[in-house]
Amino acid sequence: MKRRDFFSSFKSSKKEEKIIRPPYFEDESLFKNRCLNCEGLCANICEEKIILIQEDKTPKLDFNSSGCTYCDECANICPNEVLDIKYKKNINTNISIDILKCLSWNQTMCFSCKDPCLDDAIDFLAMFRPEINSNCTSCGFCIKYCPVEAIQIGA
Ligand code: SF4
Ligand code: SF4
Ligand code: SF4
Repeated sequence: MKRRDFFSSFKSSKKEEKIIRPPYFEDESLFKNRCLNCEGLCANICEEKIILIQEDKTPKLDFNSSGCTYCDECANICPNEVLDIKYKKNINTNISIDILKCLSWNQTMCFSCKDPCLDDAIDFLAMFRPEINSNCTSCGFCIKYCPVEAIQIGA
């Protein structure tokens, strides 16, 4: 295989990351059209500091250090109606537990994710085997508490 072919095959096999937006939008296309002339007000006001402004000036959520409290502040401050309180809904991703990585699923007792979940969205079946139930709002708070990074975003 030629060197160029090798690198291009690597590029095409790389999965495209799904952007997780703050939970107050209706039309995805408005981010690219309207965030250009904004100084990232939503990111500045977020008290959890989970909104990152990307190179294209649009916001994405990052759950590495905290989660979303659904406080509405980012929607209230958005000057361009990209985020609007009337579109409030659960965050646009799915949170799940990777049973191959999870300690509890592999016979080591661990409840690290249970208490941080204020929505009671993690059931421990027979003490072990945690599963995320339909109460989950995808807030992302549990993610940083897992010692083995077994809580997946968007899988
Ligand atoms: S709702 Fe609040 S915590 Fe969530 S992203 Fe917006 S400002 Fe941050
Ligand atoms: S406050 Fe509104 S316009 Fe500004 S970056 Fe955030 S979403 Fe875009
Ligand atoms: S299980 Fe869902 S609701 Fe509970 S902390 Fe994790 S992301 Fe939030």
